[in-house]
Amino acid sequence: MDNNEFRKWSHKASDWSADYRETLDDRPVRAQVKPGEIGKLIEEVPPEMAQDMETIFADFDRIIPGGMTHWQHPRFFAYFPSNAAPAALIAEQLANTIGAQCMLWQTSPAATELEVKMVDWLRQALDLPEEFKGTFQDTASSSTLCAILTMRERALNWTGNKTGLAGQKTLRVYASKGTHSSIDKAMWVAGLGQDNLVHIPIDAKGAMRADLLQEAIDADRKAGYLPAGLVVCVGGTSIGATDNVEALCALGRREDLFIHVDAAWAGSAMICPEYRHLWQGVEMADSIVFNPHKWLGAPMECSAHFVREPEALVRTLAIQPEYLKTYGKEGLVNFSEWSVQLGRRFRALKIWFLLRAYGLEGLRTMIRNHVNWTQKLATQLQGESDFEVTSQPVLALFSFRYAPPGYEGDLDELNRRLVNTINDDGRIYLTQTLHGGMQVIRFTAGSYEMEENDITIAFETICELARAL
Ligand SMILES: *Cc1c(COP(=O)(O)O)cnc(C)c1O
Repeated sequence: MDNNEFRKWSHKASDWSADYRETLDDRPVRAQVKPGEIGKLIEEVPPEMAQDMETIFADFDRIIPGGMTHWQHPRFFAYFPSNAAPAALIAEQLANTIGAQCMLWQTSPAATELEVKMVDWLRQALDLPEEFKGTFQDTASSSTLCAILTMRERALNWTGNKTGLAGQKTLRVYASKGTHSSIDKAMWVAGLGQDNLVHIPIDAKGAMRADLLQEAIDADRKAGYLPAGLVVCVGGTSIGATDNVEALCALGRREDLFIHVDAAWAGSAMICPEYRHLWQGVEMADSIVFNPHKWLGAPMECSAHFVREPEALVRTLAIQPEYLKTYGKEGLVNFSEWSVQLGRRFRALKIWFLLRAYGLEGLRTMIRNHVNWTQKLATQLQGESDFEVTSQPVLALFSFRYAPPGYEGDLDELNRRLVNTINDDGRIYLTQTLHGGMQVIRFTAGSYEMEENDITIAFETICELARAL
């Protein structure tokens, strides 16, 4: 492809992108295809001869969008959002064009220095203390893995990487039952083992019981285990479970645990001072993760990982074979030493565009709208005699279920059927979860394109389809 062709097709791609965004509202939110339906449309073998862009582009348009669930749809109320704000998308196009591999300062000076600044902009936006430095990992799973590895190395006096875990004391990490499965996976990958992630029971509000945490630590020490770390949850995935950050951090510090706070989703809301009570005490943590690629509007992948002592993270993850050394440039940041992966994308550019194009005030307004509109829907459903709100809104997340008075069948089955019916309908997209032993339906607002009227559509769709079951 010569440069003229490249110009033509990148213009086409831009036009396509704008058209796509314009027509999102008319598309069913969740893909309406069956497993295998799209795969059938793709050739079995790779082409030997070059094909023209006309055909390639036409096939893309014919096959792909119709087989996608539309995460940028204004009525995407499932999982958590994965926003791609338009201004940040432009940055992503530019970063893709430059196509840099941002592992070392030397391989990407501007990307590295912008990343240092953007992490610090976000730190200020969240009002975290100045000593927190950080990096953009790909996902919260990776950030958490890095935190668990740091916990491990710190507890083993930095010997784990060298000698392995055989013959070492068995390490223990503590987290509540409401934490995300990425913590479990990090335990597996770090070689610590699922059994050594101690799940502490939660109270009625979904917060870890500090008294039971203390008991578990005491019992573990007595039994010869080595307590290494604590994972604190702010805005859990299922129903927004949130630990008492201040109490847990104080306890964790007393017990010399490395403390990691997982606020992958809820962290974005902390740009609003009025929500910061949810993680009051967070400045006592050693490591904090939140995903600008969820609510804030940075396209996948962009997970902000803050650490109070970068030395501990770098000591855990820096590996310097001869060919990666950058002589005479000591004191420079090489972000590959802050993460598991070596090669890294240019992630800071989208944060730069995002924060400038909307301003913190613009982003706060969006988040406040989502929180208020979610509250409005919860109140509306609560007002209907055949619906129950099963967990009150935490920021922009609550759960509910359909429970018509006198219904004699299985309510779990009824609600599973309702979720499927809603998602087949296509006007809105919701997911289910288990809460208090019940099958309930999650609702979370967070789309960039959402307007208040989308709440009305959600309310009407839910009521209409439930009553027609
Ligand atoms: C989404 C989420 C994760 C996982 O995030 P990834 O970036 O997809 O790895 C972890 N913890 C919480 C609380 C989340 O909401």
